[in-house]
Amino acid sequence: MDLALPEFLAHAVALEDEAAERYLELADMMEAHRNDAVSSVFRSMNRFSQMHCDSIKLRVGSIELPKLKSWEYRWSSPPEVGGEEGFDYMIEPYNALKYARANEVRAMQFYRSVAEGSTNEGVRRLAGEFAHEEAEHVAALDKWIELTPRPSTTWEDDPGTIPPVV
Ligand code: ZN
Repeated sequence: MDLALPEFLAHAVALEDEAAERYLELADMMEAHRNDAVSSVFRSMNRFSQMHCDSIKLRVGSIELPKLKSWEYRWSSPPEVGGEEGFDYMIEPYNALKYARANEVRAMQFYRSVAEGSTNEGVRRLAGEFAHEEAEHVAALDKWIELTPRPSTTWEDDPGTIPPVV
């Protein structure tokens, strides 16, 4: 994907803002269900996204960013919009972690496609750095997913739940 620097930075800021917001929601949800361990995972992911967003804003400096009309790199909608079953699905820490991971992968792929496709060298280098950071987030979530018990019913057994995004 070939983006000019202002467009790239605008996407990156929006992407990190969105992630920070979602992680806060996930952290609160886990806390409400007394899962302090997974809640704190999401709180630190929230902090990473916020720090990343702040450092991007520093790079933005006085560059005027374009307003994004609509963009396709928002997190996929949280399953709770699907109703009760969706909510039940998300209160399982395993599923919430998988959901977060799927969105980190999308962010990583976005940065990678810019790193590979941009004609601007500065944009390519920045996007490459960001893709690397996202890869670290994916790895951190993977570690937690490994430590988290799978829910007893898989979604195949229970058609009321929403399948994980892979
Ligand atoms: Zn991330």
